[in-house]
Formats: sequence, C-alpha cells, structure tokens
Amino acid sequence: MSSYFDEHDCEPTDPEEQYRQNALLELARSLMQGLDVDFGFPDAPEWDQRLPPPAAKVSVQGLQLVVISPQQADKGLKCPVCLLEFEEQETVREMPCKHLFHSGCILPWLGKTNSCPLCRFELVTDDPEYEEFKKDKDRRRQREHRLEDLHGAMYT
Ligand SMILES: [Zn+2]
Ligand SMILES: [Zn+2]
Repeated sequence: MSSYFDEHDCEPTDPEEQYRQNALLELARSLMQGLDVDFGFPDAPEWDQRLPPPAAKVSVQGLQLVVISPQQADKGLKCPVCLLEFEEQETVREMPCKHLFHSGCILPWLGKTNSCPLCRFELVTDDPEYEEFKKDKDRRRQREHRLEDLHGAMYT
C-alpha cells in the first residue's frame, strides 16, 4: 500500500524545506489550541520575512466541504494539524491542494495567514499590497528561470 505522502506527491526532500514545513504546522497547532501566536516581524520590509496575510473570506468560504469516505477512514487519513484520524462520515475542509483539515484546525489558521500549513499552497488574500508582491515574485522567478536556462545553454 502506498503511503499518504506518495499519494499526495508532497514528501519534503530538502531538510530546510522540511524544517519550514514543521514550523508552520507547529504554528497551526498552537493556534488551534487557542494560543496567541506571534506571527510576526511586523517591521520587516519584505513579505519574504513574514507570513502572508489572512486568506480572503470568499476564498475560505469557497473551500470544499468533504465527507470522509470509509476508504479514507480505513487508510487512517489524519488531519495534519491535530494529527487525529478522520472518522468516517466526518465533514472536513479540503484545500485546493487537496489537503484535508478539520474546520476547527484550518479556519483559525486561515484567519491569520493564507497558505496550507502542509504545502504552503496559497489562497487568495484581500490584501492588495500582498497580491501585488506575489505577482512581482512570479515575474522575478520567471526571469531567474530564463537566466538559468541561458546559463545552462552556455555551459553545456
Ligand atoms: Zn484537526
Ligand atoms: Zn496543502
């Protein structure tokens, strides 16, 4: 039988990536337990230095509600935040990245920041400044890719 991670194709391979992922999940757990989590570096000039703003209400409301099937329950599918196994017939939230969470685990999180705590898939925010930054980052990334290609072409 294939593992949860094989199936979702999201096993972190890079240790640093794994560390960041665990840090996010830790934060999400603290939130779920009602702890007041400090999200921040409010004075950091760059979004790179802080967590993105909350998910837009519409994008949260648009999340699919999924009923856990007997097969999923049999596989011992767990909520990544609280690590409790989902029960058959339980209604849970599905992020666009297909990760499943209890409403009570993911909603407080999305009220703080817009990304999946497991894979950092980002929901839309209603922060115009951040949305602009995101577009900008995509453009920068594309430019870097082109440069890498060029570099590759020159040295191979
Ligand atoms: Zn949970
Ligand atoms: Zn995800």
